[in-house]
Amino acid sequence: MESQHGTYALVLAAWTDTQLQVGKLGRLHVASGLYVYVGSAFGPGGVRARVAHHQRRAVRPHWHIDYLRTVTQLLAVCYTYDAQRREHQWAEAMLQMRGASIPLARFGASDCACATHLVFFRGCPSWLTWQRTLRRLGRPHMSFSWPQRAPQAGRPSNQQQPSATEGLGKAPKHADGYMDD
Ligand SMILES: [Zn+2]
Repeated sequence: MESQHGTYALVLAAWTDTQLQVGKLGRLHVASGLYVYVGSAFGPGGVRARVAHHQRRAVRPHWHIDYLRTVTQLLAVCYTYDAQRREHQWAEAMLQMRGASIPLARFGASDCACATHLVFFRGCPSWLTWQRTLRRLGRPHMSFSWPQRAPQAGRPSNQQQPSATEGLGKAPKHADGYMDD
């Protein structure tokens, strides 16, 4: 992962239902399932620094996502190095996927017109569909990283990907099967 600017999506799993106060935004009922959060990294250190931040659980939460990270597991990161901010477009595309819903309005989207930058999937979206959706919006150099698989330094990222037919990790409880289309 490089220090270049770009857009990223975090795939997070919540294994149990819980209640979470997200700063001043409000109370989020965290249902077990998958959450996809999209953001962009245009500050110092770019995508690498931002993803490193998200890999840790913040002691003092600052962004909305910092609160959600305290109760979820980071399964995967998808990112692209691109001078154009793509998070709004990605958030909209995620919301249009089957099984998607808005867990808390304006989450991560205080400064834009989006309904949310956090999308909830009660089941487990098909990895293939998800990847296809993002690739359609991204650029050819779109990359995927799987922190839970402890990637080795210098290894090309495509060797860390699961097969295209695999789901996004193990489906949390309530999962009603893969949603292929
Ligand atoms: Zn937005």
